[in-house]
Amino acid sequence: MEPIDIKTVKLFRKAIEAASGPIALVAHVNADGDAIGSVLGLSRVLRNAGKQTVVLAPNHFPPYYKWIAGAEEILIFSQFYREVRKALASSGMMICLDLNSPARTADMKELLEKYRKSSIVIDHHPFPQKFTNLLISHPECSSTAELVFHVIKQMGYREYIDMEAAEALYCGIMTDTGSFDFNISDPQTFRTVSELLEWKIDPIKIHEKVYDNYSADRMRLLGYCLCECMNILPEYHTAVMHLSRDIQQKFNFLPGDNEGFVNYPLSIKDIHFSVLFTEKDDHIKVSFRSKGDFPTNDMAAKYFNGGGHKNASGGELKVPFEKAIELFYTVLPDYKELLEATRRG
Ligand code: 5GP
Ligand code: MN
Repeated sequence: MEPIDIKTVKLFRKAIEAASGPIALVAHVNADGDAIGSVLGLSRVLRNAGKQTVVLAPNHFPPYYKWIAGAEEILIFSQFYREVRKALASSGMMICLDLNSPARTADMKELLEKYRKSSIVIDHHPFPQKFTNLLISHPECSSTAELVFHVIKQMGYREYIDMEAAEALYCGIMTDTGSFDFNISDPQTFRTVSELLEWKIDPIKIHEKVYDNYSADRMRLLGYCLCECMNILPEYHTAVMHLSRDIQQKFNFLPGDNEGFVNYPLSIKDIHFSVLFTEKDDHIKVSFRSKGDFPTNDMAAKYFNGGGHKNASGGELKVPFEKAIELFYTVLPDYKELLEATRRG
């Protein structure tokens, strides 16, 4: 990992100590383990340091992250928008984690853009937008949770980490590396994990809480999806999956049930690129994953109003389900040469 700019870390610490009011920590829409682990881990450390905090998320997050300490206190904008507005209005500082632009908070976007007190983004997504006073952006870092851990240490707040904070940060690293399957080329990530183990966290228990906690319906949906809704395009080294509302209803779909689906086709020999289309209430969600050099975020940004990392990105379209899938098949040939040249891992 690149060294973190010491000046920015010092200014961050100063801003925290000068904040007149609770510190608001903000996660991105459809928060994942890294977003939840980062906001809750850092919030816990700040509270241990005697600060007041409030944790905000644009919408509900999957139930298998509810065991993380502080999860029950997260204020959800889609349900409690007045409270979230108030919380931001009376806060003394805003910390945005695991997001690189206000748009990543969906309907909270304007609140972030209008925020006038001190603010910071700590994130590992490429192409950060500058909308806060301070920015700590490390796209080469495995996860925001790992970055948060280093920032905490550089601030001199290591003594405020406890087991619960270490668990939250570990969960972020574990989920953003697919349980140490990708984003792990930097030895630093394993050093970070080994250091987190000093707080006596139990990695087996954490893995079970996140990955062995699904409903039977979700497992059946996965089986159905792989069997009936996966199209393999060998000439493009690509797999396309689609999850319509009809199919979701058949399996009593709950938010988070499709988490991880898009990774499965990458286990197929010679498949380098995997795409999942999920039909939502008012838009189509697209998830992209790749192995090796193929930059999924290029297609996500150019055609699907999205972005993200090279090997994991996503986007959204407000068009009929079939149109979104059709668009994908139309633009895929433009990437044929790149897909053919892609070397895995
Ligand atoms: P997922 O497919 O798990 O929803 O998202 C994977 C990654 O893609 C996220 O960590 C995020 O970086 C990026 N991503 C997903 N959806 C969007 C989107 O709508 N806009 C942007 N800019 N990035 C997205
Ligand atoms: Mn992340």
